[in-house]
Amino acid sequence: MTDESALEASRDFIRDIVAADLATGKHKGVVTRFPPEPNGYLHLGHAKSICLNFGIAEEFGGRCHLRFDDTNPAKEEQEYIDAIQRDVRWLGFDWGEHLHFASDYFEQLYGWAQDLIRAGKAYVDDQTQDEIRLTRGTLTEAGQNSPFRNRPVEENLDLFARMRAGEFPNGARVLRAKIDMGSGNINLRDPVLYRILNAHHPRTGNTWHIYPSYDFAHGQSDAIEHITHSICTLEFEDHRPLYDWFIENLPVPSRPRQYEFARLNVTHTLLSKRVLTELVRGGHVSGWDDPRMPTLAGLQRRGVPAAALRDFVKRIGVAKANSTVDIGMFEFSIREALNSSAPRRMAVLRPIKVVIENYPEGQIEQLEAVNHPDDAAQGTRTIPFGREIYIERDDFMEDPPKKFFRLAPGREVRLRYAFFITCREVIKDASGEIVELRCTYDPETRGGNAPDGRKVKATIHWVSATEGIPAEVRIYNHLFATPQPDAANFAAQINPESIEVLSGAVVEPALASDNFDGAVQFERQGYFVRDKDSTPGKLVFNRTVGLRDTWAKVSAAG
Ligand code: ATP
Ligand code: MG
Repeated sequence: MTDESALEASRDFIRDIVAADLATGKHKGVVTRFPPEPNGYLHLGHAKSICLNFGIAEEFGGRCHLRFDDTNPAKEEQEYIDAIQRDVRWLGFDWGEHLHFASDYFEQLYGWAQDLIRAGKAYVDDQTQDEIRLTRGTLTEAGQNSPFRNRPVEENLDLFARMRAGEFPNGARVLRAKIDMGSGNINLRDPVLYRILNAHHPRTGNTWHIYPSYDFAHGQSDAIEHITHSICTLEFEDHRPLYDWFIENLPVPSRPRQYEFARLNVTHTLLSKRVLTELVRGGHVSGWDDPRMPTLAGLQRRGVPAAALRDFVKRIGVAKANSTVDIGMFEFSIREALNSSAPRRMAVLRPIKVVIENYPEGQIEQLEAVNHPDDAAQGTRTIPFGREIYIERDDFMEDPPKKFFRLAPGREVRLRYAFFITCREVIKDASGEIVELRCTYDPETRGGNAPDGRKVKATIHWVSATEGIPAEVRIYNHLFATPQPDAANFAAQINPESIEVLSGAVVEPALASDNFDGAVQFERQGYFVRDKDSTPGKLVFNRTVGLRDTWAKVSAAG
């Protein structure tokens, strides 16, 4: 995708609607909200919704609320409430004083439910959940009226009050709206407004024994907060008539409107809180912040900068048709963000020892290296060099094919920021495996250039064997090897090679004292971030993303 289409994507049909509503004076200002249910951690899909809601508020000088849709205490926890706030802030957004909870409106919602009962528009139904489901009808067949549908108002009010007081067990009764069991829209066939749930709520404790449904809570919460544009994903399109029915039939203080956009799907990824919860509970990953998880916490631990997420969301745009985005596009945004900012360092992931025979034993010298090739402001650092170093095993071949230009017997290469070395001898163990290379260096090439102008065909990275720091490097691959994993059967599709642990890596000493949180580029290898599992004796790094830019190639070819 070019920069131009990324710019175009910053205008979409929802922003057009908002702009028009402001231009015509329908609204004086725009108020949006991001309404997570605190039953899990936020994921990449939520990032799209957050950037859209908070982004619109920023761009049009309005405000965006963070509202927890905490209507199901059976699944919701304080841990999630805290994590969601942390993650929205990390993404770069701020709700100011507008932190709200649907549970703040429970009393008002209860009062409005009583209003519906008094108006003959709601009734208490004693049928079981199964009976209600079986009499709901199908897409082609009307539903059947409940035998309790014409209960007198007084009886309804009394039973509803006793439901609230905790007189009945879970599921014994529900409150339903009395709309139309023959409606072509199943959502209008006497939807459930309240169910009995004797559970402890993270905020209201044991005050309530009944909880409102999503449909009954959501639109009314929007109205209470004077939300102008209530933006949600397409699966709620069929709920909009019900959303509007409540707004029309209740004395709400404002008239919000719901708009739907396509949810984000990404290849090799499942963005479903149910699946993510099961991945955690089933021990398939180390936790919500496992770097393979598409959660914001996992991506952060993986080293993905928030700017990359915002850039990605901008590039994919907002549309009305569901589609699946290639994960390569997300990786492209990550590389874009990191390439310009991440400091460069050297690390050897799969080391082989090199002894430089003509370098004085016991001597260490400090060589200067730039921190970023295009950003002089990042300054320089020194790297210790000595008689014993490590290079990448892959950078040597005993019997190289034609196009292999790196180290080989008798061949000279440049060590980055250091010297030219020439391989003189290959040392093997009893089994024939190469264990060490004996080389010589040319002291005249300090800094990486020969005074006689001779050239080498390759520059390789290295780390001092005596001064380098041992490290474990964790390389991640897609959690699901198949591009379109099936949520119903996710466990069987987990990629057994989604993590590869390189426990014998060695990194340059600067990485032990670096005091920034973000990712660095290990030269020639990719972007890596220090993991919280690091100890003073052993650093642990996560690979954020490799250097190869397949998306740019794919899109250039297409
Ligand atoms: P799940 O279906 O995984 O349980 P959810 O949509 O129920 O997720 P919520 O906490 O209700 O999770 O979501 C909060 C907001 O984020 C909603 O407005 C929802 O539409 C939006 N959202 C959730 N998933 C996506 C997605 N994949 N792409 C875009 N928006 C999403
Ligand atoms: Mg939801």
